[in-house]
Amino acid sequence: MSADGSAAHPAIDAFPVIDGCLAVGGMPLTRLAERVGATPFFAYDRNLLTRRIEHLRRCLPDDVHLHYAIKANPMPAVVQHLAPLVDGFDVASALEMKVALDTPIEPDRVSFAGPGKTAGELSQAIAAGIVIHVESENEMRALAARATANGGRPRVAIRVNPDFELKASGMRMGGGAQQFGVDAERVPQMLGELATLDLEFVGFHLFAGSQNLHADILQDVQGKIIDLSLALAERAPAPVRHLNIGGGFGIPYFPKDQPLDLAAVGDNLERLMSRVRTALPEAVVIVELGRYIVGECGVYVTRVVDRKESRGEVFLITDGGLHHQLAASGNFGQVIRRNYPVAIGNRMGESAAETASVVGCLCTPLDLLADKVALPRAETDDLVVVFQSGAYGLTASPTAFLSHPAPAEVLV
Ligand SMILES: *Cc1c(COP(=O)(O)O)cnc(C)c1O
Repeated sequence: MSADGSAAHPAIDAFPVIDGCLAVGGMPLTRLAERVGATPFFAYDRNLLTRRIEHLRRCLPDDVHLHYAIKANPMPAVVQHLAPLVDGFDVASALEMKVALDTPIEPDRVSFAGPGKTAGELSQAIAAGIVIHVESENEMRALAARATANGGRPRVAIRVNPDFELKASGMRMGGGAQQFGVDAERVPQMLGELATLDLEFVGFHLFAGSQNLHADILQDVQGKIIDLSLALAERAPAPVRHLNIGGGFGIPYFPKDQPLDLAAVGDNLERLMSRVRTALPEAVVIVELGRYIVGECGVYVTRVVDRKESRGEVFLITDGGLHHQLAASGNFGQVIRRNYPVAIGNRMGESAAETASVVGCLCTPLDLLADKVALPRAETDDLVVVFQSGAYGLTASPTAFLSHPAPAEVLV
């Protein structure tokens, strides 16, 4: 606990404090709330987004391309802001594809992964001229059939389900049996079939998992991904030009989480790149990141509408809740519920004075935004800030649950 009463967390320190009030995009939250016109809302800081990309560029090899996975935060203004800063976008639905194509980015820098692409989505992706990551043999055949009907020759990469996993990840998305990608041992045969179809092979996509804070584990998996890719490339019908090695870079959500040592990951990638440059001279290596780019740059702001005590415990009841920020309530795939960093945004200069729980306005005990945290004494109308809310916030939450209005989103 720091002297100012907010739980010490690097994500909190990223935002300046002006006259005791946390500021996003240089604007104190009390004023920003007036500007937005209603609480709750999500606020994303464009300057922090830019600095985050700069940090990634400093640590990763110069010739590694950086893609933004739009599902982490598809707000069009955020995606527009990132367009000139990244090398491409990864999309996972037709609407995400539209958001990407509305930016000035070239279509061949947009890739579409994800299981269960419909015939309609495949047709849209072919017409758009983006790279399509096929997730199964059936999907490859459906794509070829649509392509022939539409007269196009789609660019395809095969998403490979590796025979190893990314350990200690928030979400495992490779290794073992998976709905994602094609099992590595079946890929050589698939490449043979692909060569007979009216498809343009561009490369491979391997995504092993998400939210990993351990540089050593990420380095190990990246090495295995390069080994597997080089082996598969020998069976490919055309040179590999597009090698998406996934990402999985995590951010520290909870007090004991240590930030990822990005410099170590970058140094290791530089060593791996020397092998790729020799073996696959035409390949562009792509790292795709979602939360690492946007997660720390956003906050969720909700107003205290009631303060009550129950049998010795203080509850700050807010106008927000899990219907907007499900992950902070611990119900977005977490095994153990832990608190996201929170603060009273308009009392940043005050010391912690009590232990309080921050709850939302939904009629369910799951609607807990912070469980027994030390905070300055908060009153009705104060602003509770939930940090690490730039990724998997609004669009990963059940906004329709309890039929409250949807929150605003602003990029400041
Ligand atoms: C979700 C997803 C990402 C982004 O994951 P983060 O943990 O937000 O970085 C990247 N690639 C693929 C294929 C994904 O499904």
